[in-house]
Amino acid sequence: MIQQIYPQVIHPFRYELNKDMQIAAAHFIPHEAAGQCANLHGHTYFINITVAGDELDDSGFLINFQQLKKLIHNRFDHTLMNDHTDVFSNTQAEHFPTTEVVARKIAEIVQQHLDTLPNKPTCVQVFVRESPTSYVVYRPKAGKQ
Ligand SMILES: [Zn+2]
Repeated sequence: MIQQIYPQVIHPFRYELNKDMQIAAAHFIPHEAAGQCANLHGHTYFINITVAGDELDDSGFLINFQQLKKLIHNRFDHTLMNDHTDVFSNTQAEHFPTTEVVARKIAEIVQQHLDTLPNKPTCVQVFVRESPTSYVVYRPKAGKQ
C-alpha cells in the first residue's frame, strides 16, 4: 500500500502520469561526513515518478506503467545500490548513492527510455522517500539532467 501526498510540479504539458513503487535496497555512503550512513544499511524506498507530455502513443499511453516498473523496480529491488557501478560510484561524490543522487539517477534512466518513444514524454519529477521522516524531490531542468 502506497498512499501519500506528493509535491506538485508545474509543467506546460497536457497529460501527467504518476507511478508509485516501493524498493527494498541497501546502500552505504562512502564518506567520513556521512556518519552512520557510511555503514551498510537498508531502506524501503517509496518512489514516485512523474512523466508528462502532450502526445500519447499508438496504444493511448503516455508511457506504459509496467515499463516504468521494469526500468527501476526490477533493476534495483533487493540489491545493494553501490554494486550498480554503471549507475553509482564509491569514489565520486556526485555519484554516491545518496537519496538525492538516487532520485537524479532514476530521472536519468527514465528519461533515457522516454527519449526512445515516438511520443517523446518527459520525466518532470522524481520523489524518493527514504524513511518516514526524510525524502528528496528531483526535478530535471530543461535541457540538462
Ligand atoms: Zn541510507
